[in-house]
Amino acid sequence: MKIENAWMLLPGRKVGFGTVETDGDTISAVSLREPGESDRLVLPGLVNCHCHAPMTLLRGVGGGLPLKRWLEEAIFPVEAKMTPEDIYAGALWGAMEMLAGGTTTVADMYDFPADSERAFAEAGMRSNVCRVGLSFVPGRLADCISFTKGPGDPSSIRDICIHSEYLTDEPFCRDLAAANRELGRRLHVHVSETKREHEECIARHGKTPIAYLAETGLLDRGGYAAHCVWCTDDDFRIMAERDVALVHNPTSNMKLGSGFARIVRAMELGVNVALGTDGPASNDNLDMFEEMHLASLIHKGLANDPTALSAWDVIEMATKNGAKALGRGDVGEIAVGRKADFCVVGLDRLHLLPAHDLPNLVVHSMHSSDVVQTVVGGRTVYDASLGNEAFPACPISRAAAKNALLASAARLMGSNP
Ligand SMILES: [Zn+2]
Repeated sequence: MKIENAWMLLPGRKVGFGTVETDGDTISAVSLREPGESDRLVLPGLVNCHCHAPMTLLRGVGGGLPLKRWLEEAIFPVEAKMTPEDIYAGALWGAMEMLAGGTTTVADMYDFPADSERAFAEAGMRSNVCRVGLSFVPGRLADCISFTKGPGDPSSIRDICIHSEYLTDEPFCRDLAAANRELGRRLHVHVSETKREHEECIARHGKTPIAYLAETGLLDRGGYAAHCVWCTDDDFRIMAERDVALVHNPTSNMKLGSGFARIVRAMELGVNVALGTDGPASNDNLDMFEEMHLASLIHKGLANDPTALSAWDVIEMATKNGAKALGRGDVGEIAVGRKADFCVVGLDRLHLLPAHDLPNLVVHSMHSSDVVQTVVGGRTVYDASLGNEAFPACPISRAAAKNALLASAARLMGSNP
């Protein structure tokens, strides 16, 4: 495949103009020349480091409730009714939404992960999936270990996971950490999302959630921690030392009134900061361009300082930092030898012209709907010009995926989802 006469965002924070070529699943050439006329920009594929994609089934459900009531009253009762078919339908629709918005890799945390993994693989996206550790489910520890050991799809990495400190007891954490000495996987976890959760952990264990998780051994192989809204400087030091990325979820944290993660401070202390959408019930979409936009604005506003984060800082969070967080050093940049994961954005839009400053345009002007083509591993997995056939790698059409989603959602939520 060859994308010619296009602008590109390149490693080293450079903007280039020229041609990207792929050979098999890899970028084989990036040739630059004097800029000419072009209405296309090639961006590295976006990496969504914290998602619950099957929650497309529950998009916006329970809006307005605080986290604990939202989970216990609106979400858990419906989730209890979900079947593997529902999960597949929700994950496939989520994968289509993400691919159409330029996201090429997702780290997903949800029940029936083998069904989500299959949906992501069929749609053509990369995934890091996990069996969610919860100590109140009988047999779950053995289940987590056997899922992680399983072969999986070549497009996925199976990581270890606990939902959170508050939904797993200490023996569960220690036993999973012990098993992971052999497995050697990264940990996907929710950390210090709310003040209450953070303080209750201190009351229970005499430590913050990050310090407690480190003590159990669960951070020994690194990982990626979603939210980290209430983390302390000492927590950030532990994260930097243990190669635990902070996955910032600005929309979800604001929608649920959880607060603002101190990502600028985390970066100063050496933490790798990435971005995630969280699930579509607390966002309520899977749009990484929105997360970039909000991350940029929030931290400038909070710091009273427009230099707090540059556009490049934010673009890297959504691309190469995310790739690193997920243990995927082979994606996240437009460079020879990297996997050919990228998206092409159409610049001929009312809100994108004139394009004086492309990084700034990506973060502050662009929408996910500006993506016209998405490529994963050298294969076009989304082409906006093809309408109902816009997902050419997927054996299921957009229309069939929609019918499956709506049938599942209606069964779960009643006739008017
Ligand atoms: Zn989450």
